[in-house]
Amino acid sequence: MAIERTLSILKPDATTRNITGKINAIFEENGFRIIAQRRVLLTRSETERFYIIHKERPFYKDLCDFMSSAPVVVQVLEGENAILKNRAIMGATNPEEAAPGTIRALFGLSIDQNTVHGSDSAATAAQEIAFFFKETDIVG
Ligand code: ADP
Ligand code: MG
Repeated sequence: MAIERTLSILKPDATTRNITGKINAIFEENGFRIIAQRRVLLTRSETERFYIIHKERPFYKDLCDFMSSAPVVVQVLEGENAILKNRAIMGATNPEEAAPGTIRALFGLSIDQNTVHGSDSAATAAQEIAFFFKETDIVG
C-alpha cells in the first residue's frame, strides 16, 4: 500500500466546541502524521469555491453558510492508504449512520454539523490540498 496525503478539515462545530486536539489525537493514534495545519476563518466565497461540486445540491447554501460561520482547521494528513483510511476513521456523512467509534459517531451533531471533512479520492485530495496549501507549507 502506498503512502498518501489527504486533505482534512475540522469543521466549525469542532473549533467552537474546542475538540480539535481530541480529533487530532485520533488521527495520530491511527498512524497519520499531520504534515501541514492552519486555523482559518473561511470567507463565504472560499467555501463556495471549495464546495463548488455540490452547487446544485439543496444543501449547498446551508453548507457554505456553516463552513464560513466560525474558524476551521485545514490540514494535510499523511499515511498508508490515507485517503480511504481517513474516510473510514471519519465515518458516514450522517452521524446517525456512522459506525461506532468513528469521529462522526463520536462527535457529529447532525448531517450538517458533522465535525470533519476528508478528501474522497486521489484526484480530489490533490486538488483540495492545493486549494489550501503551497508545497512549501507541507513538511512531511
Ligand atoms: P462527505 O463530507 O461525507 O464527503 P458530501 O461530500 O456528500 O459528504 O457532502 C459534503 C457535506 O455536505 C457533508 O459533509 C455534509 O456536511 C453536507 N451534506 C451532505 N449531504 C447533506 C444533506 N443531505 N443534508 C445536509 N447536509 C448535507
Ligand atoms: Mg465529500
